[in-house]
Amino acid sequence: MRAVQLTKHGAPGTFKVGEIDKPRLAPDEVLVQVKACGVNRLELWAEEGGLPVPIQLPRTLGGEIAGVIAELGADVDDWRRGERVAVQSNLFCGFCEYCLKAEESVCLNGKLLGIDRDGGFAEYVAVPARSLVRIPAEVDFVASAALTLAGSTAMHMLTNRAEVRSSEWVLVMAGASGVGTYAIQIAKQLGAQVIATGSTEAKRNFAKTMGADAVVDSNDAHWPSVVRELTQKRGVDLIVEHVGGDVFEKCFQCLGRGGTIVTCGATAGKKVEMNLWPFFVKQQRIIGSYGRNRSDVEVIMEWAAYGKVKPVVHSTFPLERLADGFTELRSRKVLGKVVITI
Ligand SMILES: [Zn+2]
Repeated sequence: MRAVQLTKHGAPGTFKVGEIDKPRLAPDEVLVQVKACGVNRLELWAEEGGLPVPIQLPRTLGGEIAGVIAELGADVDDWRRGERVAVQSNLFCGFCEYCLKAEESVCLNGKLLGIDRDGGFAEYVAVPARSLVRIPAEVDFVASAALTLAGSTAMHMLTNRAEVRSSEWVLVMAGASGVGTYAIQIAKQLGAQVIATGSTEAKRNFAKTMGADAVVDSNDAHWPSVVRELTQKRGVDLIVEHVGGDVFEKCFQCLGRGGTIVTCGATAGKKVEMNLWPFFVKQQRIIGSYGRNRSDVEVIMEWAAYGKVKPVVHSTFPLERLADGFTELRSRKVLGKVVITI
């Protein structure tokens, strides 16, 4: 089968386009013929060798998979060949105490598809049947690949880890990013008033087309004051954060009393300083959010089928041009998702 393997780390890394053997199936796995696979920042870190866990090379990256079931493992009896499926890329064991509570995002034996084992930048990928989610008829493969990871991450943050009540103020950091575009749409569907940040006019305008009521320039050092003004000095109720570093620290300047920061990323810095005094006096919360549960993938697919969220595709590349897709995402000029088609 055709596959693109990362053979050497770097920015850009070295990729080999070629033929490799089809994966062999364990009894609880299915073989998915990949039709589309989204590119994510996680894969850029993997390409650069910047993840905290070492990756065995060569590796086929790619976790945001949409495709068709081609073969069933010996023990799989609840799926059929030809079914259109997305994959919950936080692979989970299904038997630990967290999996038994459907909290697969914190599975004790979790593995990342496309990082810890070969992923979807190939014609076929083997995945455990328990990680499959049906793609509704209304959602095409590219749309599914644009939703599965970024959309479900935002769904997990806004509806599972935190909550949004009607007419609350929600601030979405980096509103034109993958997670940002879906966080804006989900928060608006839940009745919130949404402010989004963006570093360029193009990104701010894009956040508005996603439904943001107001946008602020994240390059303006005083952006938290602008947010406070927009909320008549009250501050926001919820901040959807995935940047980290200095951005995370500044979030407290525009977080209202009783407000929550939900965070799923630390691209700009893992270590932060915070002032505990105003934090407890204002009874604020910080909530961590990691990946998604399988149910978050199901819900984002349902919402897409009902037209409640729009998949946001910036560009598509054929499998052979995977490296160009990575370069495009790294350029930081992307509005929405980069998707590889196979
Ligand atoms: Zn588990």
